[in-house]
Amino acid sequence: MPANEPHVTAYLGLGGNIGDPVAAMTEALYHLDEHRDCSVSTVSRLYRTPPWGNTDQAWFFNAAAAIHTTLAPHPLLDLCLDIERSMKRIRAERWGPRTLDMDILAYGDVSVTDERLTLPHPRMKDRAFVLMPLADIAPDLVLEGRAVTAWLSDADRAGIEVAGQQRDWWRKS
Ligand code: ATP
Ligand code: CA
Ligand code: CA
Repeated sequence: MPANEPHVTAYLGLGGNIGDPVAAMTEALYHLDEHRDCSVSTVSRLYRTPPWGNTDQAWFFNAAAAIHTTLAPHPLLDLCLDIERSMKRIRAERWGPRTLDMDILAYGDVSVTDERLTLPHPRMKDRAFVLMPLADIAPDLVLEGRAVTAWLSDADRAGIEVAGQQRDWWRKS
């Protein structure tokens, strides 16, 4: 995306626990960066996190990314869902195992509530597996009047580990 084009900063949460989730997240971020209407700005460290919701499944890898985009919120959601599908994600059960999950956490300071999209993401404020990576790249981002770090201080971080200190884990050498 040309750097001088008017754009919005959006935050994405990525995760996966089937196959090679780190490879799937790498492909997803490359795909976004190569898309004419998006560029990847900052990426968090990688985290290893225990499953949430349905706890009888493998641990996840999670990360967060800031992107710049000229896409409106719904086309950005469609792009994320297309990328998930291209990673062979099959929706079987809610909060079940997946090769790649890519959620829009926030899109500028825009609020959306419709049948396809809720922004900011409604379930992120009590999920340490979302807030910890997000705090790497946007600690001061305000959600419902509180900074990411403030939400994180109340969240249950039990079991979550930093999988690597590098921010460039997704860059192919
Ligand atoms: P959760 O939303 O609790 O994290 P999930 O990510 O497992 O659960 P999915 O099956 O990936 O849920 O997504 C279900 C639907 O959620 C998507 O098809 C999409 O229309 C909708 N959705 C609503 N708001 C968002 C958002 N902010 N980011 C991504 N998807 C969203
Ligand atoms: Ca999700
Ligand atoms: Ca999702």
